[in-house]
Amino acid sequence: MDIKGTKKGKTLCLLSGVHGSEVTGVVSLWTFIEHAKKVELHKHLSGRLIVLPALNLPGIKELERYMNGVDLNRAYMDLENESLETMLLKVLEDKILSKSDAVLDFHDSGKRYLLMPHVRADLNFKKASALVEAFGAEFVYNRESREYMLSGYLQKKYKIPVLTIESGGNFRLLDNNLRYTFDGIFSTLRAMKMYPGKNSNFEYKVFNERLAIKAEIDGLVRYFVEPGQLVEKGSRILEVIDLKTMESTVLYADVDAYILGLIDSNAIKVGQKLVHLVCCSKLSRKQTKQFKSGIGDKFQLVKIAM
Ligand SMILES: [Zn+2]
Repeated sequence: MDIKGTKKGKTLCLLSGVHGSEVTGVVSLWTFIEHAKKVELHKHLSGRLIVLPALNLPGIKELERYMNGVDLNRAYMDLENESLETMLLKVLEDKILSKSDAVLDFHDSGKRYLLMPHVRADLNFKKASALVEAFGAEFVYNRESREYMLSGYLQKKYKIPVLTIESGGNFRLLDNNLRYTFDGIFSTLRAMKMYPGKNSNFEYKVFNERLAIKAEIDGLVRYFVEPGQLVEKGSRILEVIDLKTMESTVLYADVDAYILGLIDSNAIKVGQKLVHLVCCSKLSRKQTKQFKSGIGDKFQLVKIAM
């Protein structure tokens, strides 16, 4: 959908469904389009808002991440081959993305994981950090841009910022995911002077450490937390019940951390990551070692590269 405002202004592009298994963004942007029609958004808009809710349509139909085996977010190293996927990316680049001032790209976990809403961006790129502020994201996963990915490619070639938005998962849209998307879009439009009103100032938090806790048993799990929640050292995160012994074991946080994501299910298998935690400050070796050793034999703690 192409929404042209009544006044001149910048161009913002909203993308989702780049990965076909990630439908939170697809349904969110679909809902946004309906809303835009209902409130006649174009009458209040300066500039142009382009909404592409279902980029990888074949993938979405199959709930499959790839398009004919190609990851559309990681296919920018070889745009010379003449496949259907590359042609799609080239048309998208020439007609839309290269003419945009900023891009919001909506993703989710694509699995049975529910993710806390956050954004991913290269904060060393000034326009990207400005876009983080424009979106009003409370949490940022700072990652260096990679040229084979959409964000790195547009940054290098056109100096256009792309915000990768991660929210939700497990093939369903929750109220908080929809609210996050709508708030973020309107906040960005206001910051880009495309929509009336002003945003209030705030400071975002950056993740510096990511941990996952795996199950060492088959069993059942009960969560005491939700994605996005801050857990303080010593508080309960979850409880597992070993189906062999019917014994329950509680997992406690050994550091202050936010719940980045957890499985949207009560049944678990050996080796499954039960919960992902993120911390805003880097953990010392001593802290990590202590957490690992105190965790007991029902769990295993692994560090994940940021
Ligand atoms: Zn994705």
